[in-house]
Amino acid sequence: MSFVEPAVTAEIPLLKIENLKKTFSIPTSLFRRPLTLTALEDINFTVQKGETLGIVGESGCGKSTLGRCILQLIAPDEGKVLWLGQDLTELRSEEMRRKRQDLQIIFQDPLASLNPRMTVGEIIADPLKTLRPDVSRTERRARVIRMMEAVGLLPEMINRYPHEFSGGQAQRIGIARALITEPKLIVCDEPVSALDVSIQAQILNLLSELKDEFGLTLVFISHDLSVVRHVSDRILVLYLGRIAELATGEQLYTDPKHPYTQALLTAVPIPDPKKARERNIVALMGEIPSPINPPSGCRFRTRCRYAITKCAEVIPPLEEISTGRLVACHRWKEID
Ligand code: SF4
Repeated sequence: MSFVEPAVTAEIPLLKIENLKKTFSIPTSLFRRPLTLTALEDINFTVQKGETLGIVGESGCGKSTLGRCILQLIAPDEGKVLWLGQDLTELRSEEMRRKRQDLQIIFQDPLASLNPRMTVGEIIADPLKTLRPDVSRTERRARVIRMMEAVGLLPEMINRYPHEFSGGQAQRIGIARALITEPKLIVCDEPVSALDVSIQAQILNLLSELKDEFGLTLVFISHDLSVVRHVSDRILVLYLGRIAELATGEQLYTDPKHPYTQALLTAVPIPDPKKARERNIVALMGEIPSPINPPSGCRFRTRCRYAITKCAEVIPPLEEISTGRLVACHRWKEID
């Protein structure tokens, strides 16, 4: 049965995630049952065409797993990944392969993500060769050169190998590879965290320019709230596999409601020393608990200075506290 893609409307967003859950089975010993790691639970959000949704949280919070579930690189246990209203989790592999040209990814470690035995031209052309075999060799080469120029690489570099490039240049190759199929959405999974700070800004600016030029929608994953804020329209804060808060970048930065968001913000540098001194520091206590055995009730409670008895007993629902703004905390009204 063929599926005719509907136009994007307010009712049908480009991407809608419904009740997503993902667990992993962790083997222990031969005679014991495997452990279950719940990486994601009760995940619901939408992404509108043309927006950048940032996903932020500490290492191990499930953000990369979420990116891979969106792209169907790993299958969720439960829930829906609705792309223009069509549930990608129900597609057969051939149907999903055709969708892949619309949904691409940029990886964290640019050099590690490039095949060292392939030239830059071959690397960038690879998704096009796989997903669009109808495109001729001449046209493919022309598109590779166009993409190299778009990301700031010289066309004469086309026959070089990845080891001849710096980290920043390698990430430009990764971006060109993601763009070559003319995708509608790109998941950027920690795209600058392996780069020097000076290069990070160049790559972030490049992504913003390309987003406008190619009409892209981005899901931008990072552990660094200052990086996410730089590029995102809205930001989703994940903690141990659950959504803690979802708000616009401005709301989150000026008026964070969830204690975890507040703590993450204290790690964001403020250039003005006076404002930095006035900031109400809410340091994060302790380490993130194991997702194999997460705390009962609110998963953040073991590190939250506002925790009360109810927090250990009842999972806080994700409440809409104003239009489109979501918070999962029993005490958000009392916390300032
Ligand atoms: Fe802290 Fe309780 Fe709110 Fe969780 S629900 S963030 S433990 S106050």
